[in-house]
This record gives sequence, structure tokens and C-alpha cells, in this order.
Amino acid sequence: MASLPVTGELNQETLHKMEQPRCGVADISENSPLNFVTGPRKWPKTLLTWRISTYSKTSKLTEFQQRDAIERGLNIWAKHTPLRFQYQTLGRADLNFKFGVRYHGDSDKFDGDGGVLAHATLPTDGEIHFDDEEMWLLGQEAQSKGAELYIVAAHEIGHALGLDHTKVQGALMAPMYVYSSNLQLHSDDISGIQFLYGKRFSRRKSFWWFLRK
Ligand SMILES: [Zn+2]
Ligand SMILES: [Zn+2]
Repeated sequence: MASLPVTGELNQETLHKMEQPRCGVADISENSPLNFVTGPRKWPKTLLTWRISTYSKTSKLTEFQQRDAIERGLNIWAKHTPLRFQYQTLGRADLNFKFGVRYHGDSDKFDGDGGVLAHATLPTDGEIHFDDEEMWLLGQEAQSKGAELYIVAAHEIGHALGLDHTKVQGALMAPMYVYSSNLQLHSDDISGIQFLYGKRFSRRKSFWWFLRK
């Protein structure tokens, strides 16, 4: 998964990779292709509702900052697909975001500071959970410590939309968390999400269609 040269030895490079913070969703089998991998299902619709049922209690980020980071994480995928996301404050939404520690209501308990940062379920379950024992930060502040909420949210949203881990280094859907000051989807991420949902309809196309009618 980390594209390390196969040496058969537990060397320093391997140990270093094993210690890096990562996503809690398990990596798939060794026989997977060397590019994007999709889960067994996708959402049968393109307008998805979302809510944050539990905000971070330990972070210094305000609720507005947390919501904004998650919204940017959704938009990075919406930019390349027909997917649209609608925020709601109450009730059951398609995508449910929450922060929790250790046992937090599912079978996959969090491990405290470091290690697993977050996890998510594949469609159409829509659960995206963040480990609230991590130091959640935004932007440059996350360069040397903690975890950048927008980047981690964007990765987990990829799972919640139906993408599994990729072996392509530099892709958002690689399992290891890497800080970036300017997060962009890799062409592998874009190929994956467009394989599931297609490309974004261009405005111009629908305009001309309207004129011809
Ligand atoms: Zn992941
Ligand atoms: Zn969970």
C-alpha cells in the first residue's frame, strides 16, 4: 500500500511508514490494481444531505470552522462530479459526521492520539467519524503537528462516496495522511469518482440544450 520496495526485511523505511498517522479503513487485498479502487456500492442519487451530529469537544476549532472544513471536503469531490451536498441540522442525513473517542458507538474503536485519525463506511451507510483525541487543526498550523481536518475529511468523504484505498502515491485516497498546504485531487482520485458518478455537467451544455428546445 505504501509502494515500498519489497526487500523482505523490516527495514527503517518500512518502520517509518508503519508509524505514520493513517486512515482507519482497512487496506484491500494484495491483488488490487495499481490505481483507484471502488467499493461494492455507490449512492443511487447525486443530491446527498449531510449533518454533523457531534462536533469536536477537544479541538480549539469553533463549530463554524469544523463545519466549513467538512464542507470544503465535500466540495473538492463535487467540483468534478454531478454530486451536490445539502447541509441539514436535524434528523437523519445521508452523510453523518461525528467526533468521538475510543468506543463511540460502532465496532471499530479509536486508538487515542496518533495512529488512526478517522474512518468512514462505504455507501450507502454514510458514517464519517473523527478521533477526538487527535489535535485537529486547519491550514499551516497543521504543518508540523496535529491533523488537518479539511484534508482528513476530504479523504473520508471519498470512502463515504464509494472509493477504497489506492496505491497511487500522492492521491488523496492513499491510506497514509500527508499534510498539504494546497490540497488537490490527484488524477487517480478524479478517475475513481468519475467512474462512479460521471463528470460534472457543464453549464454551457445545458444552456444550448435549452436554446434548441
Ligand atoms: Zn481511508
Ligand atoms: Zn466510528
